[in-house]
Amino acid sequence: MTRTVYVNGTYLPETDAKISIFDRGFLMSDAVYEVTSVLDGKLIDFEGHAVRLQRSLDELDIKKPCTKDELLKIHRKLVVINQIEEGLVYLQVTRGSDGDRDFVFPSEDTPPTLVLFTQNKPGLADSPAARKGAKIISIDDIRWGRRDIKTVQLLYPSMGKMMAKKAGCDDAWMIENGYVTEGTSNNAYFVKGNTIVTRPLSNEILHGITRKAVLRMAKEAQMQIDERLFTIEEAREADEAFTTSASAFVMPVVEIDGIQLGNGIPGPIARRLREIYLEESRNTAI
Ligand code: PMP
Repeated sequence: MTRTVYVNGTYLPETDAKISIFDRGFLMSDAVYEVTSVLDGKLIDFEGHAVRLQRSLDELDIKKPCTKDELLKIHRKLVVINQIEEGLVYLQVTRGSDGDRDFVFPSEDTPPTLVLFTQNKPGLADSPAARKGAKIISIDDIRWGRRDIKTVQLLYPSMGKMMAKKAGCDDAWMIENGYVTEGTSNNAYFVKGNTIVTRPLSNEILHGITRKAVLRMAKEAQMQIDERLFTIEEAREADEAFTTSASAFVMPVVEIDGIQLGNGIPGPIARRLREIYLEESRNTAI
């Protein structure tokens, strides 16, 4: 089935969708994005993604392409047209194009570019990868300093995933100044005893929408949370570990740099949090 995508006010087949070669998203990575998951044909935490999108746009002085209500309508329409039961909606806003290349931002009246498309992912919730758990390597974090803004500068995270693949693993956690920042496309956690440890929010990491929800749910379930800097050595000696993201929810981690955590199977806290997160998210999806 040819996907229907959305480009600047128009719904059209993916093969007919066009963006200017002068678009600053293409030339300068001058763009931000959001990925919202879909379960049972409904959007998970749309509100959280819409709020973070607005923050990313504000931080970069990119004009808002449309209202939150309009964005919601577009998301829903694409989910319906493309018959997505389980999957993702990808949204990107760029600073647009004034028909040439220049380091200086285009004039104020240049409209931003808005693109959305869906990705069909049957089995997203009941994922075999989550039942097995992920194997992680650690790599240096050499990204720019504003990781709290969700930009499309994803070359290094993409290289990190490839480094992990080459090492026979699933993903990489990044380390800066001796401390773990986050995964290539997720936030990172380990569990020691009864305590979940994760890095506090700052400009050094993306403020994950799933992180926020999972930490709230963990607190409600009386789990102990310690938001602090941590080293990869601590994580390697942990009882269990996991990551969170909108596209993989809570993903157990069973190995870090070749060192098996616990019994080498997903730990009870990660499994429980995944269950709680999926259940609550389904109940509150719109
Ligand atoms: N950190 C990074 C670097 C990411 O790319 C992502 C997912 N895009 C996350 C964390 C998780 O954020 P969220 O839970 O909002 O998907």
